[in-house]
Amino acid sequence: MKNLVTDTFETASGKKLEITFIVHASLKFRFGDRVIYVDPASSLADYSDCEKADFIFFTHHHSDHFDLKALEDLATEDTTIVCTKTVAGEIPDRDDRDIEIMQNGDSLNFRKGFSVEAVPAYNYVSREHFHPAGRDNGYILSFDGLKVYVAGDLEDVPAIHNLPEKNIDIAFLPVNQPFTMTVRQAVNAAKIIKPKIFYPYHYGQVEEVTDLQQLCADLEGSGIEVRLREMP
Ligand code: ZN
Ligand code: ZN
Repeated sequence: MKNLVTDTFETASGKKLEITFIVHASLKFRFGDRVIYVDPASSLADYSDCEKADFIFFTHHHSDHFDLKALEDLATEDTTIVCTKTVAGEIPDRDDRDIEIMQNGDSLNFRKGFSVEAVPAYNYVSREHFHPAGRDNGYILSFDGLKVYVAGDLEDVPAIHNLPEKNIDIAFLPVNQPFTMTVRQAVNAAKIIKPKIFYPYHYGQVEEVTDLQQLCADLEGSGIEVRLREMP
């Protein structure tokens, strides 16, 4: 993959975190000597020439978030795969893999300053056939205390009211109806969650074009910094 944009952050104790924006719901993090991918999907990008993963997180099993080719391209026998029960059920030769199944509310500590909490990702009842409550995960990744929330596919559902207390620094929230949120919902969700930085992601892939300029305008003066990157 060429010409990918990377943003760099510094944690409170001076450690470096890099976030690379791959496509749609797919992100790469570098923290210390660890390479971490979230939702690599070969239907949207080619991972065959990418750096191998120390960790791969899958929010759920949909083809814009998970497939076996991306997993095989990135995983070695030392890779830790963190996923839902549904995703784990689609991985063959599971006994040969280091798979950590997480449910909403679970936490894991990977040491060296890196930990994660799984949080709910679901739709309102009218669209719950896409993402029913309790099945899929969002992840709050903590890098030396710097908290990055990767929401997966969700709406501004009641569960997000539990997120302000998590003190999220950086939030990736999805903006494409009918699967996730309208611009109005995403603005509402951001105002509830109150991250310092909000990256809209997981837009496109549907007929309606996400109006990112409107989203920026609606969050002006909110104290939330919106950063636009190419994540169609
Ligand atoms: Zn989905
Ligand atoms: Zn999706």
